[in-house]
Amino acid sequence: MSVDPLALYVHWPFCVSKCPYCDFNSHVRSTIEQAAWREALLADLAHEARLLPGRTLISIFFGGGTPSLMDAATVEAVIEAAATHWEVAADIEITLEANPNSVEADRFTDLAHAGVNRLSLGLQSFDDKALRFLGRAHSAREGFRALEIAQRNFRRVSFDLIYALPGDSEAGWSAMLAQALSLGTRHLSLYQLTIEPGTRFASMAARRSFEPLEAEAAATLYELTDAMTSEASMPAYEISNYGRRGQESRHNLAYWRYQDYAGVGPGAHGRRLGMRTVRHRKPENFLAALRREGHGIAEELPLSATEAADEALVMGLRLREGVDASAIAKRFGLSSIIDWSRVERLAASGHLTKEGAHIALTARGRLLLDHILGEIAAAQPRVYAVAS
Ligand code: SF4
Repeated sequence: MSVDPLALYVHWPFCVSKCPYCDFNSHVRSTIEQAAWREALLADLAHEARLLPGRTLISIFFGGGTPSLMDAATVEAVIEAAATHWEVAADIEITLEANPNSVEADRFTDLAHAGVNRLSLGLQSFDDKALRFLGRAHSAREGFRALEIAQRNFRRVSFDLIYALPGDSEAGWSAMLAQALSLGTRHLSLYQLTIEPGTRFASMAARRSFEPLEAEAAATLYELTDAMTSEASMPAYEISNYGRRGQESRHNLAYWRYQDYAGVGPGAHGRRLGMRTVRHRKPENFLAALRREGHGIAEELPLSATEAADEALVMGLRLREGVDASAIAKRFGLSSIIDWSRVERLAASGHLTKEGAHIALTARGRLLLDHILGEIAAAQPRVYAVAS
């Protein structure tokens, strides 16, 4: 039997309200039929499991949306079903994303009993004014309380903060980050505010209701973040993720190291045996597809060797550890995926490091990831063998 590692992503698409910066697949509904959703997720999971037999499950990640609003019984049922479909690694990581309002925090004990062993808490800020600007449904005080409850209930706790808000200063952000680093978690996700197309913030910014922070000021805050987290022995291991050694999100590492993952639930993406899978986004469409087809898949797209290699490069360069460009090319049967002369130039300018075929971005380079990818990706890699 194959012991290839597999990660499982489960998407819960509902939130109590829509945050103005959010472009995730999240929906607000007045009622949610928990039992119907439990059955739907289990059926979608069973379909995916039939197509991925004989794997060892290393991670389950409940994302959203707001999965802390799922019935604990549903979370437990999904975990139990996954364990019947696949062999489960002894140290499996089971993460759930949670919002810190008091109703949700009171559910943490039940979620821990359901089998969740890592909580990722969306604190976003310790400042009530910033939380109001971000349209969050919790206060800073509720955030601290939720963190305390989470730390009592889960072995591993991470939380998110959003910075580079309009008007953010070095002094203000470094004070908030110092506080974040003192709260005893061993993992943090620190995101810069980005204005995504189609969000309420995008229309507000277009109307000049606020001025986004200038790119240069945001870059300074990123470098400050890099320095402070390194100093606290929680360095960046990915563009926006920081942690002590061994505390990295194993689930996200599976994405970035380009391993297979099954994605179930509305709008979930997956990577299955050289194929990209996408589920129906709208909850009602997802349920209708399940009734019709027995699964929620909207699209299954076989990836060409070039596409897969490009994706592996893009994902891998997000990581501080970087990538072995020759190993990726070999994995997908390509002669080369990198323009090495440009790599040399970017190494000379301090944007990346290169040792043999191994390349990794520096903090300065991580700020310019998209630009650098455009620079170094070889235009048309040649295929010399069929990727297996
Ligand atoms: S809680 Fe999260 S998923 Fe829901 S709307 Fe806000 S940012 Fe989006």
